[in-house]
Amino acid sequence: MLISDLKKTCNECEGSGYIAGLKELGTIQINLRQSCHVCSGKGFNLTELGQEFWKLYKPMIQNLIKNSFQNKSECSDVFDL
Ligand SMILES: [Zn+2]
Repeated sequence: MLISDLKKTCNECEGSGYIAGLKELGTIQINLRQSCHVCSGKGFNLTELGQEFWKLYKPMIQNLIKNSFQNKSECSDVFDL
């Protein structure tokens, strides 16, 4: 299995994670750099297979991380996905 089977580059932002937008404020144009709403700024989206894969492995990965960060209080913040 290839990683490209699990995720694909976001079409909306072409993988940058941001969408360049221009907003006109009077006569001034402001260049807005907004997080892509499709991929939430990640630049890629999980494929259907990727979502299934992630659902299956997420609890295991979270446990692994918890175990390796046992003494650190911030471990619960690490994988807030
Ligand atoms: Zn995107």
